[in-house]
Amino acid sequence: MLIIPDSDFASQTTGWKQSLAQSIRSYNELLDFCELDPLRLPQARLIKHDFPLMVTRHYASLIEKGNPEDPLLKQVLIDHRENLITPGYQTDAVGDLESMPIPGLIHKYPGRILLNLTGACAIHCRYCFRRHFPYTENRINLDEDGAVMSYLRRHRKVGEIILSGGDPLMLNDDKLSQLVMLLNTLPHLHTIRIHSRIFSVLPERITQGLIAALLAFKGNIVCVTHINHAREIDTRNQVTFKKLTSEGFHLFNQSVLLKGVNDHVETLKALSYKLISSGVIPYYLHRLDKVQGAAHFDLTQEQSCHLYQQLRAALPGYLLPRMVDEIAGELSKSPVHC
Ligand code: SF4
Repeated sequence: MLIIPDSDFASQTTGWKQSLAQSIRSYNELLDFCELDPLRLPQARLIKHDFPLMVTRHYASLIEKGNPEDPLLKQVLIDHRENLITPGYQTDAVGDLESMPIPGLIHKYPGRILLNLTGACAIHCRYCFRRHFPYTENRINLDEDGAVMSYLRRHRKVGEIILSGGDPLMLNDDKLSQLVMLLNTLPHLHTIRIHSRIFSVLPERITQGLIAALLAFKGNIVCVTHINHAREIDTRNQVTFKKLTSEGFHLFNQSVLLKGVNDHVETLKALSYKLISSGVIPYYLHRLDKVQGAAHFDLTQEQSCHLYQQLRAALPGYLLPRMVDEIAGELSKSPVHC
């Protein structure tokens, strides 16, 4: 059983912006930190990039020193294959732009709407499906009398708002608090869902102030973490997750199936067990969205199915994430039938 000393939690509730400012932002700095010789990384290159490297110190501390094959490292280290143009891979892999009636508001599914609150993230995942999203041109305006709030008021069948980005927890507590107050004015809204990688990669961000801002919402709050490998969860993360669950938040995880990172049954099995022992329910295993620059992470449908069949045999049903594809134009995520 995990005991959470109050002092431990208090120690991580200060200075998240300072931690963020200390993130690793260069190839050389990351390799130095990981004690790696660039000659041992033939795929990695110091290339000019419009999606720069960014890694929090917390996440980097979980990378195994001296291991060029580390699955956490592969998720964040720029790779020269990102510059290849691969047929069948798009800049807008999941049709975000065609489902955005107002800048920053994405409406794909009948009962829920996604608000793209910011283009900023605490970590840059090299396989990100929004790596080409034109954030600057599609900045959201959340004025009380603006088009977004007016759209939300008109769509009374929408009971759930998804806060996304980028990473919605990059907004400061005041901004999130103002947003929660605005959403509280919508009588038909029963749930806020927060999709954030910060829950795991920047545990300092989960402050008492943030929790208070979110708990001001009148309905349910569902938190969706994004963790791809069991080694992304350490004791500090577990303390944070336990704190969130003890405050009444529901925690679910979605992973992306990534070649060279988690494409092995034992790896995915270990992840499910680590999640549940940390108070997080394994929820989705996404097949890679076919975004330009990430094709080297992709598995074929046949490979994905073979792996999923093994996983289904290895795990009890409650620990088996649902394997899904996101297909532009569909009215929900599409289960992959294996
Ligand atoms: S945190 Fe999410 S939005 Fe940001 S780079 Fe990673 S996958 Fe993309």
